[in-house]
Amino acid sequence: MDVIRKAQRPGAPSPNMPDLERARREFRWDTARAWLDGLPGGGLNIAHEAVDRHAAGARGDHVAIRWLGKHGAVVELTYAELAERSGRFAGLLAALGVGRGDVVFALTPRVPELYVAALGTLKRGAVLSPLFSAFGPEPIAARIGIGRGKVLVTSAALYQKKVAPIRDRLPTLEHVLLVDDGLAQQVADAPVRATEPTSPDDLALLHFTSGTTGKPKGAMHVHAAVIAHHATGKLALDLHPDDIFWCTADPGWVTGTSYGIIAPLTCGVTMVVDEAEFAADRWYRVLAEERVTVWYTAPTAIRMLMKAGPELARGHDLSRLRFAASVGEPLNPEAVIWGAEVLGLPFHDNWWQTETGGIMIGNVPALDVRPGSMGKPLPGVEAGIVQVSDEGEVTEVSEPGVEGQLALRPGWPSMFRGYLGEEARYQKCFAGGWYLTGDLARKDADGYYWFVGRADDVIKSAGHLIGPFEVESALLEHPAVAEAGVIGVPHPVAGAIVKAFVALKPGHATTDELRSELLGFARKRLGPAVAPREIAFVADLPRTRSGKIMRRLLRARELGLPEGDTSTLEGGAS
Ligand code: ATP
Ligand code: MG
Repeated sequence: MDVIRKAQRPGAPSPNMPDLERARREFRWDTARAWLDGLPGGGLNIAHEAVDRHAAGARGDHVAIRWLGKHGAVVELTYAELAERSGRFAGLLAALGVGRGDVVFALTPRVPELYVAALGTLKRGAVLSPLFSAFGPEPIAARIGIGRGKVLVTSAALYQKKVAPIRDRLPTLEHVLLVDDGLAQQVADAPVRATEPTSPDDLALLHFTSGTTGKPKGAMHVHAAVIAHHATGKLALDLHPDDIFWCTADPGWVTGTSYGIIAPLTCGVTMVVDEAEFAADRWYRVLAEERVTVWYTAPTAIRMLMKAGPELARGHDLSRLRFAASVGEPLNPEAVIWGAEVLGLPFHDNWWQTETGGIMIGNVPALDVRPGSMGKPLPGVEAGIVQVSDEGEVTEVSEPGVEGQLALRPGWPSMFRGYLGEEARYQKCFAGGWYLTGDLARKDADGYYWFVGRADDVIKSAGHLIGPFEVESALLEHPAVAEAGVIGVPHPVAGAIVKAFVALKPGHATTDELRSELLGFARKRLGPAVAPREIAFVADLPRTRSGKIMRRLLRARELGLPEGDTSTLEGGAS
């Protein structure tokens, strides 16, 4: 299937952006800024745009967060309540002597207090750095150390298990606030504090990258990022105020903050927050019972739903769902088509990174989906495919279909303003007037972008450049394959040969017959130059906690090399 054309669902609102090309011609970031309130005197504050703006008006009683506890409890917070509580949290920080530019780390499960603390921190003008609660003590110590955290918001259990052992290594940390031990009362007792008149260039967020290719970097973002969060929420995810939106990412990853807190609230929607971890039946229940209209998730989760089988999906009423999007890893065509067939709507892949702060390239509602493509650059985003010479010279590739590095013209509001403590590394990301993303891609004749691989993961074999994604996608078309990770293994003649690590779906045995069948299957689809020469069966692939395949670990293990930073490895220390 080359293109999936979409029909408007009955009763669905008309898209915010009916014509991408026209929007790309007419859009200016200044226009998007005018969609927001702003603060008196030219200031801008993310939390003001996310909650106070709605709380003051007719939408104050609208539910902002509908929280689903993992044991069945449900808590709703309206915009007015969220505005008040976050204002009190800002008041609490002020009383503790925490002010502008101080860094507040959050290490909690997805509980309502996390959202109150996140927004309150931003109102105070302090810098929010959310950490994933499954991190072990070492990654926590490293990040709080880099960020010179002054405050940590966590839970009693997480503190005991993970922070107490490293507490004496955190000299900058002055306050620990426990969400389940007194915080609610402290917040209730604090006076509501007016939002600081932050400027658009004031630091707001410190997000660590996923650590897929190496040691995580601390990307710094400013309050102006909210302009991009809001605009992309509207244009790429098509958020309308009456939507029920579910972003499945944890705020410990950038997706869970940009699109799990900020963008949806600035659009005035009701967002569902599920405290529980992934389980296929639970997720379908959440989608159906909460009547989710817009859903933002990730390829690993989608593939796990596929593994659980279509019958489970068909047992739930998903008729409210109007738009489903995916990010974080390449989404194989098979998964896009599965969505169209089983859920009744294709997944819309989009591309961005911690550094870009928000969606840059996407399959937007106005665009027919080409399964396997990331879509097109959003309004206000100028993307290109560039080649970088050994001398560091950057040239844009104009012919369609040619692979090169994906690059962006700096200037969008949610662009990172530095890697904390690594200025040289930050500077190295920019050359020839471009921000170089470190990802390889190509653009087709119609302007759709296709992901090839991370520059670090690309395989050079017998003169060919092979992107792991293409090989993995072909293997995933085989009915027995649940997951595939592909690397290059050094070879005396070819330079490298392609090796695939494959996890099977339930009910398939790891036999030599199946291995030969898969080798032949891939060869038929990809040709002998690109198809894997070796396949190893594995129970699981090494992944980051946010679900990305860590091909560098597959390589290190294969070659007996040191594993490097594994702080974000799933199943690692916790
Ligand atoms: P690190 O930079 O520490 O190695 P990371 O790059 O995985 O980790 P993130 O910023 O969370 O950290 O992820 C961004 C990266 O994820 C992108 O640069 C790209 O490689 C990959 N990615 C995100 N979305 C997509 C997508 N739709 N298709 C393909 N790859 C994607
Ligand atoms: Mg990266």
